[in-house]
Amino acid sequence: MFDVDLSSAVAEIKRLKARIVALQVPEGLKKRAYQIAEDIENNAGAEVLLVAEPCFGACDVPSSLFELVDAVVHVGHSPIPSIRFSKPVIFVPARSRVPVNDQLRKAVGLLTEPVGVLATSQHLQELDDVIEGLESMGMKVKMGEGDSRISHVGEILGCNYTAATAVGDEVGSYLLIGSGTFHGLGVHLATGKKVVVLDPHIDEPREIEQAKDKILRQRHAAIEKAEKARSFGIIIGEKVGQRRMRRARELRKLLRWKKKDASLILMDKFDPEKLKALGFDAYVSTACPRIAIDDVAMYDTPLLTPHELEIVLGVRRWENYTFDQMTDDEF
Ligand code: SF4
Repeated sequence: MFDVDLSSAVAEIKRLKARIVALQVPEGLKKRAYQIAEDIENNAGAEVLLVAEPCFGACDVPSSLFELVDAVVHVGHSPIPSIRFSKPVIFVPARSRVPVNDQLRKAVGLLTEPVGVLATSQHLQELDDVIEGLESMGMKVKMGEGDSRISHVGEILGCNYTAATAVGDEVGSYLLIGSGTFHGLGVHLATGKKVVVLDPHIDEPREIEQAKDKILRQRHAAIEKAEKARSFGIIIGEKVGQRRMRRARELRKLLRWKKKDASLILMDKFDPEKLKALGFDAYVSTACPRIAIDDVAMYDTPLLTPHELEIVLGVRRWENYTFDQMTDDEF
């Protein structure tokens, strides 16, 4: 279902004269990893170390790889321009091959003009067709440019909706090409606007508000539980694109001002057992914002986002709830 074109990566490996490269692929492409590795070895003449660890985004290139290899080939995510790596990282898109045109006709009746058009990394190649389709049906369309974490106009990440908020005052609704609920709900909470999702894996367009209640109930329950906590662990992600030191220190200051115990914790892979062993009453994650939301069922102890901690401490109102975003001034 995904096209992976290695030609520019092969050319770049040759240009760099890299003799050994690490290959990272997302979970959905792991079964094709062997073929990708073989294509690189055959065409670029470099030895490939296939990385077995899961890889969730362009933020997720372990620094330890750079001690072993001359370059990293990272498949399936767009680069995050503001992240600087110590050796070359070659990003190879994996673009969806599923057309969404039939869904588009059904989605039009749900949209209010002008329509802000957005896509996740895997679906950027469908943006042009969707825009052309909307315009051919007489709809006005807007595209927003994101901040320095975003490399394509109209692209959003699970940690960054700035391409949506950039045109928030100019659009009546958003049309998002992507899978699942998280990104669409993030855009809806960040902008207050209706979001319709074209998910290439299902037949019907979805209005994201329908999925909102369950997630917000879970978040409200975690916040309520954390209101009783005396001690908080503030987790800093070890991954190079998730180390929000500044944000973590601000949260520690806020907690101590509110007379709570607070410590900074460094963690790479999240695991409920690691948190249980540390024994804090509640945790706040400044790493990938998806972890606290997607993995909520795994944690007995409340695991909050920074915004949620602010609600616990009374410096933000629940009515203003949004998903956490990563912006450059927090690192
Ligand atoms: S921080 Fe999370 S949402 Fe953002 S790019 Fe990394 S994995 Fe994706």
